[in-house]
Amino acid sequence: MPKFDLKTIIFMSMLLTFMLSMLLAITRSHHKEVRGPGYWAVGNLVVGLGMVLVLIQLDAPKMLFLPGMALIGAGLSLYLNGIQAFNGNIPNHRIPIAIFLLLVAIDGYFMLVNVDLRTAVVLGAVVFAGIYLACARLTFSRDEGIVGTLFWIASSLFLIMALLMLIRAFAASKVDVSVFDAFATWPVNAYTFMLGAVSQFFISSVFVLMLSYRLNQNLESIATIDGLTGILNRRGLEDSALKMQGICKRINLSMAVLVIDMDYFKKVNDKHGHLFGDDVLRRLAKVINDILRSGDVFGRYGGEEFCVFLPNTTEKDASGLAERIRAGVEKALHEVNHTVIKGTVSIGVADSVRAGYDFKGLVAAADSALYTAKNNGRNRVVSYTSITRDSQF
Ligand code: GH3
Ligand code: MG
Ligand code: MG
Repeated sequence: MPKFDLKTIIFMSMLLTFMLSMLLAITRSHHKEVRGPGYWAVGNLVVGLGMVLVLIQLDAPKMLFLPGMALIGAGLSLYLNGIQAFNGNIPNHRIPIAIFLLLVAIDGYFMLVNVDLRTAVVLGAVVFAGIYLACARLTFSRDEGIVGTLFWIASSLFLIMALLMLIRAFAASKVDVSVFDAFATWPVNAYTFMLGAVSQFFISSVFVLMLSYRLNQNLESIATIDGLTGILNRRGLEDSALKMQGICKRINLSMAVLVIDMDYFKKVNDKHGHLFGDDVLRRLAKVINDILRSGDVFGRYGGEEFCVFLPNTTEKDASGLAERIRAGVEKALHEVNHTVIKGTVSIGVADSVRAGYDFKGLVAAADSALYTAKNNGRNRVVSYTSITRDSQF
């Protein structure tokens, strides 16, 4: 039977973990907007350094053992900081420092002052169990989807490590005291380090996957979100409207569209400058968004033109909503940045009953209604039905 070489396994796992650290560090340097991977990369390096210090001294624990264990603890606490940052929270930098000092204090006292290796090992293992438990708690997620699953896997790995550390503490408290004279031969040691190194590799892999998924999500949102207003851009609007169209058509629900255009916006730009105009557009998007319901699809169609797609809505109901938007905008955009302006909108309304489900046809119908609203004096709502009915006479 081939012999299990624990040192080789530990060495290989650490090597792979270093590779993943490099990957995390490179990604971090290219994507400063994603928080977390920097902590994981540094955490890995610190844990690796600690492992080296401990492993070369394991045969007879000496001075290097002490900073080694403390570094491993600090490195794992950096994971914790990374998870905090990845989740959008502010990382608590005092944790790694506190853990480092705590482990130095424990090992220093029980290895140098009052020599009691058993207590040092038990307390050390309990501290590590605590760090792993905290990591498991922070990565525990009920979220659906891939990120939720990855979080769940990371959480399980941390939990397993926490349990192993508790088992180590228990074993150390029960084992014959002579074991501590030949510490390296205690099998629990070898297995702790092997499982620690292997789990570190797996956890780093999960971190890399979480990171790549987050970056993909960001890219997707860059492609579909309007940078100025934070709402959907034309592409995102079309994607969402097409989905809505598919569903409404299948179950035979009507859908409606509003096309909203600022009145005399060129004048606002000319008078107050483009940057002020941008502020007006941001405010406008917020005012409209606050009036809409969650199922409505709202986006910037281009320039100062916005679109709203409304599922299960007729032109009549949509016109009511459009009127609320018109009045809301007139009130809210009376003043922007302490400057009084006449910020009003004209709105064209159409629905699938009259204009069909086709995205382009719907928008074109609402656009022609908007054209009439502009011609009739602006700051008003006009429906597609009203202009087609008028043209019949
Ligand atoms: P109307 O009432 O007929 O709509 O008059 P208008 O001046 O608003 O005419 P139109 O809708 O054709 O004007 C579009 C203007 O919107 C042109 C451009 O200066 C301005 N605009 C388009 N996009 C932006 C933007 O991102 N920021 C700013 N500040 N202005 C924009
Ligand atoms: Mg306009
Ligand atoms: Mg326009």
